[in-house]
Amino acid sequence: MDQITAIGFDLFNTLITVESKALDKAVDRLIHSLQQSGFTLESQSFKQAHREAALKFVGEARRDGRETHNRFWISAALESQGYHVSPDDPRIAIAVDAYFSAFLDYCHLIPGTAEMLGTLKGLYRLGLLSNFTHGPAAREIIDQVGLTSFFEVVLISGELGYRKPHPLIYRGFIRQLGVRRHRVLYVGDDPEPDIFGAQRAGLQAVWFTYVRDHNIPLAPGIIFSGAEEPDNKVPRISTWKDLLNLLAKE
Ligand SMILES: [Mg+2]
Repeated sequence: MDQITAIGFDLFNTLITVESKALDKAVDRLIHSLQQSGFTLESQSFKQAHREAALKFVGEARRDGRETHNRFWISAALESQGYHVSPDDPRIAIAVDAYFSAFLDYCHLIPGTAEMLGTLKGLYRLGLLSNFTHGPAAREIIDQVGLTSFFEVVLISGELGYRKPHPLIYRGFIRQLGVRRHRVLYVGDDPEPDIFGAQRAGLQAVWFTYVRDHNIPLAPGIIFSGAEEPDNKVPRISTWKDLLNLLAKE
């Protein structure tokens, strides 16, 4: 490896996991919030419409690399129930916050993560780069699990408008870190956005397989790209001790 001066981390299934029930709870809170705002909704019908609209918008975002946002598919789901509501309606903004409050309640730091970041902070510039549609919720999650102070840079796809593996989000990340791209090591769990995306953008990549190796169920809604596995030229690590050992070998 080239001399590393900065390390970037993915968030979901790299630093934190989300319980598989989070998505159902999130949708329940979303519907409850919309009902509180005065919409009369039949729960099953709205859920189905919300799921279909989310798949459509997220599918488009994954194809063209431009990040989407929940307000668009909530508006589309409401439309299917006979309500014409702009995505920018404040009732939708309140519902989005209610939706993501479930993720806050059901996410957990992977054991040893804070200790690992504490060890590396001061030796490297540390950054976090996450695909997440709603930036404020991602930042709240990072804060709640106690990680905010470790990072000099936090970049969320929903704030930039592009998502991994698009090269523009990696370029923005490197620019904010203020280091040369080949001196950045990027650590993530999902081959296409995290490993191949980082490599195409000129970063070095490490594949973190803790979640895979422990058979931790992936929360629905946090979609795995399904890309083929990186070849053995990409370092594969299963614990944070492996990462520290890898960096010590430089
Ligand atoms: Mg991930």
